Amino acid sequence: MGIAMLKSPLTGVFSWQRGRQIAMGLRSPTLFSGAFLCLAIAFTVYFNVVIRINPDAAQQRFETLYEAGSLRRAAPHGERTIAMRLKRNESANDVASLKIKTAKTQLARKKYERGATLMRDGLATPWGKALDRRSRIEIENQLARAYIRSGKIEDAVSIYASFLELAGDAASHGDTRATEGIEALYAELLADADSEFAGALNHTDAYDIAASSVQQKLATASHMASLGGYYGMQAGSEYAAAGLLSSAYETRKEILGGDHQDTVQLTLILGPLYAKMGRLKDAENLYLDAFHAQERVKGPNSPDLSLYIKLLAGVYEKQNRFTEAQALYEHMRRLFRDAFGAQRYAVNRAQDRRVYINRPVSQFFPLEEEYAPSDLVSAVEYSVPASKLPAIDEMKLRLAPDTNADAREANLPVRLAQLISLCRNESGERISLRSGYRSYKTQYILFERNGARGTVTPPGISEHQTGLAADINVNDRFMRQSDRAFQCFEENAFRFGFILSYPPGNNYLPGEDSYEPWHWRYVGVQTAQLYREAGPYNQPQEFLAALPCYQERAINGSFPTAGEPDICQEDAKIVAAFPNEGADEQPIGENAETARILNDSAHAARGRR
Ligand SMILES: [Zn+2]
Repeated sequence: MGIAMLKSPLTGVFSWQRGRQIAMGLRSPTLFSGAFLCLAIAFTVYFNVVIRINPDAAQQRFETLYEAGSLRRAAPHGERTIAMRLKRNESANDVASLKIKTAKTQLARKKYERGATLMRDGLATPWGKALDRRSRIEIENQLARAYIRSGKIEDAVSIYASFLELAGDAASHGDTRATEGIEALYAELLADADSEFAGALNHTDAYDIAASSVQQKLATASHMASLGGYYGMQAGSEYAAAGLLSSAYETRKEILGGDHQDTVQLTLILGPLYAKMGRLKDAENLYLDAFHAQERVKGPNSPDLSLYIKLLAGVYEKQNRFTEAQALYEHMRRLFRDAFGAQRYAVNRAQDRRVYINRPVSQFFPLEEEYAPSDLVSAVEYSVPASKLPAIDEMKLRLAPDTNADAREANLPVRLAQLISLCRNESGERISLRSGYRSYKTQYILFERNGARGTVTPPGISEHQTGLAADINVNDRFMRQSDRAFQCFEENAFRFGFILSYPPGNNYLPGEDSYEPWHWRYVGVQTAQLYREAGPYNQPQEFLAALPCYQERAINGSFPTAGEPDICQEDAKIVAAFPNEGADEQPIGENAETARILNDSAHAARGRR
């Protein structure tokens, strides 16, 4: 570098000299031009010597170029200054700020590895730790991007996984109190990094994690799973998601084995993603692995297998392999018959109608403003872990007891408590009720306050108004699809009468995609089982709107056949509102006019799909 610096001004002087000689003809150099030459050389030498031996001069040169935006030219001066100042016995802390600036100049030169080293060192000093939070986040983000570009995916993944945790609820859309400030910044930077990951990870082959220990490999795989789960929910980030998730999946499979629940867990996030991307064969292979794993782990007769059977059958149907799909559906029905009895749906209808827990709720099936449940109870009193003060409305749920059973034992909050307890044990994660009942008025206020951001469900189409919906927190933020608890809910919620109301790709709420992995809704045990066994996959509102048809078919044993149109989804079968059979209940849409409106909107909804 020093030689180059010396050379260029001298070259300039010599050519000037040559130009002068030509201009002056063949006259020999005058005393004046000789003196000038000496002076110029002396100055150049002096200047270069000074910025080579005097760190202050060198830094001044660096700062001048840096401020002028000549980052690439500034880089060598920054490096030289750092070296000189360290030689002068300054501490790493003294040069930390200069290191960060120099890092930026190195990144401008595409020297990502050097840039990353400088940034990492700068951040590790007391100076770096004392930076204000926003500056630090901004530098960490640049560092993570530099890591990706220099092939150190593991280090980038670790930074962005911490961003994801710190973003909290800002990393989940659909919050009722949309987050702002620092959490939103974390979420924004995280979202912007998707193309970096997509570019760096070959999305057909899993990335081979480099780590010194098995523990480190697994830690990286966990980070990749969380990030992949997050990107999987962002429209347009499928490649980043698939790259991260498949890397995590292969790593876990290699280290933990295919039967380990942490490995199986990822099939539930990656499989639907593959299916969405049209990679049906990849989805099929994943679901097959998961199905066999769960068959070995949970036993061949466990109804838990139904989730995997349904996923696999769905992929077969998409590939027009109806015979295989049908064989799987029949296998599942045998499991359900053995587990829940041949008469499993026979007595259900009257019950569920009386307590009126099956009503679909969406923008096509709105609730009336006056609707309020009459049997709200405090969830805490039924051992549901609450995330807020137990007395407030939001910590209330409907009791919705089973008929012909002990109301204290067989009801919504008791079953939610059981489900949470089961999944807490399986996952080791902290699970609590975040939000239960919300009145029309509360929802209205929330909507008015946050409406502009489009993150709050408008009043009248929120299931929370029914008192049947529970938003679930895991480790004090919205449940995510990468949580172990989510896998447990997906497998088991139906046994306790809960279904996932807003699955991926739904259009139940206004806006693009209202996938909410945290929002679980009670429909009663038998209806939830019927949904798993005979209902369309991930179309809960369509199922509920045509529930009597599905019940009729189940009771007659005439379940849908793979590859044939679902007769329950024909217009005439969409009922949406049920007759009022309970004296003290307040069913919605009890009159013919409302039913007609609901039916019309149901048809409109189906037309839109
Ligand atoms: Zn919710």
